[in-house]
Amino acid sequence: MQEFHRNVSISGSEEFTGIDLKEPIRVAAGALGVKEALRHSFKEMGIVRSMRALLEMNQKDGFDCPSCAWPDSEHPSKLGEYCENGAKALADEATIKKVDADFFKKYSVEKLSLLTDYQLNKFGRLVEPMVLRPGSIHYEPIEWQEAFDLISSELRKLDSPDEAIFYTSGRSSNEAAFLYGMFARAFGTNNMPDCSNMCHESSGVALGETLGIGKGSVKLEDLYKAEVIIVAGQNPGTNHPRMLSALEKCKKNGGKVISINPLEETGLVNFKNPQHLKGWISGEDMADLHLAVNINQDIPLVKLILKKLAVLDKKERTVFDHEFIETYTQGYEKLLADFDNYDEDELLCLSGVGLEKIEEAVSFLANKSKIIVCWAMGLTQHKNGVENIREYVNLLLLKGAIGKPNAGTCPVRGHSNVQGDRSVGIMHFVDEALNKRIEKHLGFKPPGKEGYDTVGAMKAMHDEKAKVFMCLGGNFLMAASDTEYTAKALQRCDLTVQVSTKLNRTHLVTGKTALILPTVGRSEKDMKNGQQRYFTVENSMGRVTQSKGLLKPASEKIMSEPELIAQLADTYFKGEHSMDWKVLGEDYNLIRQYIDKVAKGFEKTEERSKGPGYYLPNNVRELDFSKLPNGKAQITINNLPNHDLKEDEFMLMTIRSHDQFNTTIYGLDDRYRGVYNERRVLFMNSEDMESLNMKKLDVVNIRSNYDGQIRTAKKFLVIPYNIPKGNLAAYFPETNVLVPYNHFAEKSKTPISKSIKVTVKKASV
Ligand code: SF4
Repeated sequence: MQEFHRNVSISGSEEFTGIDLKEPIRVAAGALGVKEALRHSFKEMGIVRSMRALLEMNQKDGFDCPSCAWPDSEHPSKLGEYCENGAKALADEATIKKVDADFFKKYSVEKLSLLTDYQLNKFGRLVEPMVLRPGSIHYEPIEWQEAFDLISSELRKLDSPDEAIFYTSGRSSNEAAFLYGMFARAFGTNNMPDCSNMCHESSGVALGETLGIGKGSVKLEDLYKAEVIIVAGQNPGTNHPRMLSALEKCKKNGGKVISINPLEETGLVNFKNPQHLKGWISGEDMADLHLAVNINQDIPLVKLILKKLAVLDKKERTVFDHEFIETYTQGYEKLLADFDNYDEDELLCLSGVGLEKIEEAVSFLANKSKIIVCWAMGLTQHKNGVENIREYVNLLLLKGAIGKPNAGTCPVRGHSNVQGDRSVGIMHFVDEALNKRIEKHLGFKPPGKEGYDTVGAMKAMHDEKAKVFMCLGGNFLMAASDTEYTAKALQRCDLTVQVSTKLNRTHLVTGKTALILPTVGRSEKDMKNGQQRYFTVENSMGRVTQSKGLLKPASEKIMSEPELIAQLADTYFKGEHSMDWKVLGEDYNLIRQYIDKVAKGFEKTEERSKGPGYYLPNNVRELDFSKLPNGKAQITINNLPNHDLKEDEFMLMTIRSHDQFNTTIYGLDDRYRGVYNERRVLFMNSEDMESLNMKKLDVVNIRSNYDGQIRTAKKFLVIPYNIPKGNLAAYFPETNVLVPYNHFAEKSKTPISKSIKVTVKKASV
C-alpha cells in the first residue's frame, strides 16, 4: 500500500514581497530604535500590556528577556533595561493573537506550508495541545494525558533508547533543561543535541582545549574599562544590542574598539544610547578601526598581527607579557617558530585588509594588556571554526590578557539560556563525573555511550536509525543546515513532538504522527496551587539569575516546560522511578535542590540566584589551568583555511536581518542595510556584479556544489553592497538549504553556514 505522504512545501513561498531600497541607516538605536520597539510592542500586545511587560523585563524581580544572552546590568535602569530587539522578542511571545483548534481545522499543514516563515510566525500563540495523526493533514485537539500516553507508547515501541532524540533550544530554563536531560538519561540515551551545536560549539571546544572551560571568562563590567575590545565575526547592533552600551562605556573610559567583519555593521559605526538624553541628540562613534576581512580569513589576519607584534617585541620585550607566558602557558616557542612559515604579503592578501589598517591595529595592541575579544558566529560556523577562536586566544595569552580584570574571552551567546542548558546537563557527550553524581543523588545509572549532536541527529533520522524526535522549543527544520535533507529526516520519523509557543515550519514538516505541546512564555505568570513559580537562567558571562513573568498566560490549556516534562516522565515510568517526577514538576525548588547536587557550581541556587544573582565557577578567572596538559594554558598552532574556490565561485555567509532573532522573523525590514519589505536578497560587491553582467535587483539563483550534489536557493534579488570582492551575504533560514549537512567544523561539528562556496546565475523569471 502506497505510504501516505503530506504534500508540504519545505521552503514556503518564494514570492517577492515588494522590495524598497533606501540608504542604510548608519546610526544604531536612538529615537528610531525606541519607536520601532514600541511599534512592534503596541501592534502585538496593545499599549497597556506592552508598558506593563516592558517595565518588568530584565528587572531584578522581573523576567529575563527571551532573546539573546547578553547580561543584564546589576543596576538595571528603571526607565527600561531592554533594547529594540528585546522588545520585539517580547512582543513576539506576548502577542494577543492565538492559534487554536479552529485555526487548524481551517488550515491544513499543506496549505500553511505554502506561506513564508514570517507569515507563519505572525499567526500568534499556540494555545492548546494538538495532534497530527497518520494519514491526516489537519491538526486536531488532544488532551494532555492522551498526548503523554501517545509519546510514552511510541517510546516503549522502540528497539533501543537510542532510537529517540531529545533536542533542546536555548530558551528553556535551567529547571526545564535539567528535568529534560535527566529524563533522556533515565530513558536510556545521551541523544541530546542542542542549538549550541549549531552556533557556539566551536567556542566550547576551542576554549576547552586552550583554557580549560568552554565558556567566556569576562564579566560585564570588565568591558567598561578594557583598553582594547576586539569585536570579531559579530553584529552586536542587531544580535546583542545592549552590548553597545558596554562598548560606549569602554570608549568613554578611553578604550579602543576594533571591529573585524567582512561587513561594516551599523552597530559598530555609531550608537545613540536612548538611556541618556545626549543619546537622543547625538551618537557615539563606535569602532575606532574596522578591518573588512574576507570571509573566514581571520587566521591569516590575526597571524599577521601577531607576527608584527612579535617583531616589535623582539626589539623591546615589552609587547608580549613574558612573565605571564612563562608562568601560565605552554607552546610559545613553537608559535614563534611557526610564524617563520608564513610570508607577510601572503597573509595580507588572504586577509583582504590593507596594510595601513593592519599597522593601526598593531599600534592599538602593542602596549596594551587589558584586551577583550568578543565573537559570535562569524568565527564559529566554519570548517576551521575551532582554530579561528584558538588564534584569537593566542593573542590574549601572548598579551597576558587572561584571568585579570578588563581582559579575556567573550563568546557572546545568541540564545538567552543556551549556556545554562549545557551547565545543567544538556549534552550529547558523556561527562563521567556528572554521571557519578546522577547515580548518587538521583538513584539511576545514566548511559555511558556518546549520543547524537545536531548533525548526528539529522543523519540518524534520515537513515531511519531514529524514530522519535522531541524538541524542547526551537524551529529545528529552519535552524539546521541542509533544509531539504533535514526535512526528509523529520518526515521519516514515526513521531515528532514540538514543545513551542509560536507556530513555525517544523510543525508542518513532521513525522508520521506529530504533536504540538504549547508552553508558557517567559513573560507569563507560572502559577501552581495559587503560588507563583520562578525559574533560573544563566547569561553569556556565567551569571545565574531568577526570572518571573507577570502576564496572564496565553491560555489555561498551556503547560510550563518543567511540569510538562515531569508529567511525560511520570507517565512513561508509570510512577515507578527513583525520581518523583510528578512532585518535581509541581515544585521547582525541589528541582533546584537536585541541580545544586548534580550540576557543577550551582550550590544554594535558591538563595544565591535572587537579585543580581551569582557567577558560576570559572577556572580562567582564577588562572587555574590544572586540567590542561602540564597545568598550562595552551598556545596553539593554527593552519590557514583552505577554501580552494573555483574560478566562478564566491564565499557566502548567512546573516540575520535587523527584524529577526535566529529563525524567528519579526518583520521584513533591515534598515541598517537599507532593505525594506523583502528577505530574498543577495548582498554583492558592485564590481562582482559588473563582472557577472548583473544589475541591481536582477533575479538570481544561488547554488552550492558539495561532493557533486547541487543545492539551490532560488529567486534572490541582487543588491550592490559594501562587502569585499568575492564575498556574498544573504539571510538565513532562506539560504540554509545551501549548507551541506556533512560539511561542518572539525571537532565541534558546527555547520559551515558562514563560509559556503556558491555560484550565482541569473534566474529565468
Ligand atoms: S541585548 Fe539581548 S537580552 Fe538584552 S534586551 Fe536586547 S535582546 Fe534582550
